[in-house]
Amino acid sequence: MNSSMIWIPIVVVALLAVVFWIVRKRSASRACVRCGAPAAHGYSKAAESDLKDIAHLCHSCLLAQLEKDYSGYTKRAVAVQPVAGLPCYVFRPKSEWNEKLRKELDSMLGRLESKCISCGGDARYLWLDCAADTSIVADIPEKGIANSLSTSGGSSPTSLCGKCSVKRVGETLSRQDARYVEVCGPHGPEDGLVIAMGY
Ligand SMILES: [Zn+2]
Ligand SMILES: [Zn+2]
Repeated sequence: MNSSMIWIPIVVVALLAVVFWIVRKRSASRACVRCGAPAAHGYSKAAESDLKDIAHLCHSCLLAQLEKDYSGYTKRAVAVQPVAGLPCYVFRPKSEWNEKLRKELDSMLGRLESKCISCGGDARYLWLDCAADTSIVADIPEKGIANSLSTSGGSSPTSLCGKCSVKRVGETLSRQDARYVEVCGPHGPEDGLVIAMGY
């Protein structure tokens, strides 16, 4: 082999490495569409939005948007603490769940106190802490909330207003090294459930 030909594969590999590095750097440095800071999560108006309708937001812009969504929602929802390992953290209205879960949501929301236990505002969310166990939360749509969480060592359900619920979402997200592909807040005319899921 001609000695100059030895360099061809080396140059090709080096070029590929540079291209790979540039692509990785570009996707890692995606900026928040609102403030330009590094984006952390995807935000959409409703679960399972098209990719083009998911906005990339940084941690603080996401929480500011969720505070608007959670405070503006006029119905009631059960909110299960986010768990890392599932790519989405979304609200889904009651009509999108199976009958067993719909009944469970009704009975749980019947126990919602009228006042937020943190600030005394109007409570609209029944917040459920759970051990950060992905598989337990992933089982909720099939097994039901009480059945799934009874063994997770979570504390009893807490009645919270929108603002205090988002505070807990924010605290949980900042403890996790997780990037959610899609996060959406509660909306619409029905009660519902906020939960981490994989679709
Ligand atoms: Zn931002
Ligand atoms: Zn509150």
